[in-house]
Amino acid sequence: MSVVLTARDLTRHYHVSTGLFKPQAVVRALNGVSFELEAGKTLAVVGESGCGKSTLARALTLIEEPSSGSLQIAGQEVHGATKAERKQLRKDVQMVFQSPYASLNPRQKIGDQLGEPLLINTSLSKAERREKVQAMMQQVGLRPEHYQRYPHMFSGGQRQRIALARAMMLQPKVLVADEPTSALDVSIQAQVLNLFMDLQQQYQTAYVFISHNLAVVRHVADDVLVMYLGRPAEMGPKEDLYTRPLHPYTQALLSATPTLKPDPLKPKIKIVGELPNPLNPPSGCAFHKRCPYATQRCSDEVPEFRKVDTRQVACHYAEQFL
Ligand code: SF4
Repeated sequence: MSVVLTARDLTRHYHVSTGLFKPQAVVRALNGVSFELEAGKTLAVVGESGCGKSTLARALTLIEEPSSGSLQIAGQEVHGATKAERKQLRKDVQMVFQSPYASLNPRQKIGDQLGEPLLINTSLSKAERREKVQAMMQQVGLRPEHYQRYPHMFSGGQRQRIALARAMMLQPKVLVADEPTSALDVSIQAQVLNLFMDLQQQYQTAYVFISHNLAVVRHVADDVLVMYLGRPAEMGPKEDLYTRPLHPYTQALLSATPTLKPDPLKPKIKIVGELPNPLNPPSGCAFHKRCPYATQRCSDEVPEFRKVDTRQVACHYAEQFL
């Protein structure tokens, strides 16, 4: 399979005011994220609110420029791309947002909203566009008569199906989904997740699936990237990461995830305290104030994000958990 998305050392820093006559502070919302994603595969990005997941999503979808690092979509470097190249890149990478309510225009009929990407980006006739829209509607489980309806006439689950259909209209190479099921009823979540997976199989789209819910991620991911305070903590194949998490933060997230068959051999960690203030992150390992295994070295030295077994882990003592 070909690699369609490559991030190298991506960073996104914000300069924020700290008060009158005080120097500006820097929030490192995204710090040194690297990965490769192949067509038809899913990378799940997990972590607490404020860990940098949504900043990463905005960088990948060209909503925000990274402060540094390299991002390639379908082999095209984003930084320095011409206007025409950017237009193509915007077609190649699409996004589904958390709230299906906010992502649809309340005053536009569904058929027109789904046809809009085709109208803007292709030379298809009105009849051809309508045909494509109706085919996609059928694929996502909507009926032909829904074409003339407005967003408020649909349930939350149906609206997320519409948002997904709209994102897939141009058959993008990459789809970034930011918490796409967290606003839905639990009974609907599984149906929408299955739809994501069906469409991926058909179009071989690469997904970056952002979620705080590790149970959801287990259902959809091939690889998982765990982030903490803007930095990667652990990244690797889903099964390895779930069966033997090597970073204490991953262990803590998994300990907090309900499971039908708890594994008595798995380390159980409870995260204490809040996510540190990103304006004033802890020295050394950013997790050290909440980590039960922290030593003096952890507060002195930033752990390198390095290969351990089948994964990459940013912990000085990752080998101890093998
Ligand atoms: Fe915990 Fe130290 Fe590993 Fe950080 S480096 S996760 S503080 S053991």
